Amino acid sequence: MYDRPTQAVILAGGRGTRMQPITNDRPKPMVPVLGRPFLEYQIEQLRDQGIERVLILLGYLAEVVQNHFGDGRDWGVHIEYSVTAPDQLTSSRVATARHMIDPCFLLLYCDNYWPMQLDRLWARFREAGKPGLITVYSNKDGYSRGSVLLDRDGHVSVFDRLRTTPGLQQVEISYAIITDLALALLPEQDTLFEEAIYTPLAQQGRLTAYSSDHRYYSIGSLDRLPATEAFMRRKPTVILDRDGVLNRKPPPAQYVRNWNEWVWCPGSLEALRLLHDRGYRTIIASNQPGIGRGVMNEADLEAVHDRMKREIAQAGGWIDAIYYCPHDWGDGCECRKPKPGLLYQAQRDFHLDLTRTLFVGDDERDAAAAAAAGCPFRRVTDACSLLDLTRQLLEGKAPAYA
Ligand SMILES: [Zn+2]
Repeated sequence: MYDRPTQAVILAGGRGTRMQPITNDRPKPMVPVLGRPFLEYQIEQLRDQGIERVLILLGYLAEVVQNHFGDGRDWGVHIEYSVTAPDQLTSSRVATARHMIDPCFLLLYCDNYWPMQLDRLWARFREAGKPGLITVYSNKDGYSRGSVLLDRDGHVSVFDRLRTTPGLQQVEISYAIITDLALALLPEQDTLFEEAIYTPLAQQGRLTAYSSDHRYYSIGSLDRLPATEAFMRRKPTVILDRDGVLNRKPPPAQYVRNWNEWVWCPGSLEALRLLHDRGYRTIIASNQPGIGRGVMNEADLEAVHDRMKREIAQAGGWIDAIYYCPHDWGDGCECRKPKPGLLYQAQRDFHLDLTRTLFVGDDERDAAAAAAAGCPFRRVTDACSLLDLTRQLLEGKAPAYA
């Protein structure tokens, strides 16, 4: 049995040639994002997730990283380094540092950021009982080229770094939990870590995966930088269910078909004004199965939303986007809550960090969608309106998110 990792190992030794000219005088992890080295964001995340020690495996321009981070005390973690030649490959960087590595540790590449919830990775690792876990982006939107195939149980059946196997879907993004049993596969020769470890583990059925629909952000190439900066610069955002949060919920199997059927919940306009004043983005995520059932059409819904947005704007609030599911129960879509599809649509469009984005709803389906997406969740009830929740948020009586 292993303990939950308290050590992270970051592969950060390469030349970062795809990031030239920025990497001419600094290694890739020091590429600035909003004026700060990308590695700072990773280290802060690791600290916030309970990692106590970080081992950085360096090569190219190692001293730039060492001089900046020192022993890590300014970041609240203990940082150690292992330095090998700039052109060594990652398997031998790990092999060289092996005496410094815990029996169970978290592995990161230095060029991806993904809003990890280590508790969830750890639960998945424990449940799978395999010597390795990789995090994969589900890539349903074709964001990147896949290198992984998962089996029915979510374990890795193929890991193909060269992407020659047909039908590869998921993208491996590091945030891996690796054990000494996996490192036993490290070869004598110099090769890439993932090729040396993940490919054979997958062939042996000993590699599991944590699959996520949440976008990752990268400094792997210059064209990824704008989205990464947008993610790091994001405004605080609140996602709201509509019926039962903004307006009175219609009785079961009835829908707000036109503005005459709309009744504001007390205080909701004021809550939207407060959020807007304080710089929050406000996004709506709503099931509207009345469309799928033929009770109303998309134009009816648009008309209701136009009027709703006008009244909100007149009251000093603002709605940045409305996401809705028009489907019926049996349609098998990805967007109908309790599925989290609407939240992921908002995530991609606004580069949100869902783990820091509050979702406010009024029923179990909202709670389940939030849980599936890793969103913090608050529930509107008869005793606690959106205005009450908003005041708690803005007065610091509830955790702040951004
Ligand atoms: Zn849907």
